[in-house]
Amino acid sequence: MADCIFCKIIKGAIPSFKLYESERVFAFLDIQPLSQGHALVIPKHHGVKLTDIPDDQLEELMPVAKKLAKAMGGDNYNILQNNGRLAHQVVDHVHFHVIPKPDQEQGLGISWPAKKADMEKLKEYFNDVKAKI
Ligand code: AMP
Ligand code: ZN
Repeated sequence: MADCIFCKIIKGAIPSFKLYESERVFAFLDIQPLSQGHALVIPKHHGVKLTDIPDDQLEELMPVAKKLAKAMGGDNYNILQNNGRLAHQVVDHVHFHVIPKPDQEQGLGISWPAKKADMEKLKEYFNDVKAKI
């Protein structure tokens, strides 16, 4: 995609701290890190959201995220993938964040507004969504 910043990074038109590259995957350091080691793993296939990427182009992403997490060496880390503006997606090329969590202050902070489920409604939703998979 002509004006996609991550496609430009893949092509080398914009420089990056490249950590890994294969036929289908590219990984590099995030330049506005939440913690030291914060990296991004992306498919070379351009797509905005996870649902835009063909299955075969997704296969290698988690193994690469795992490699990076191992290389960073910490015990605590988050893998994050945002889809859509409301869900905090800023760059419109699918990317998985690998974010070390060395302490309470650094790394990903999460708001997790959990509520107790109404079991009847949960069952109704379950039947509905299960039928669509
Ligand atoms: P998201 O909010 O999930 O779309 O995250 C986009 C991420 O891309 C942010 O963490 C940015 O810091 C990162 N980012 C944007 N431009 C670059 C770049 N040129 N090189 C490395 N990381 C970038
Ligand atoms: Zn792109």
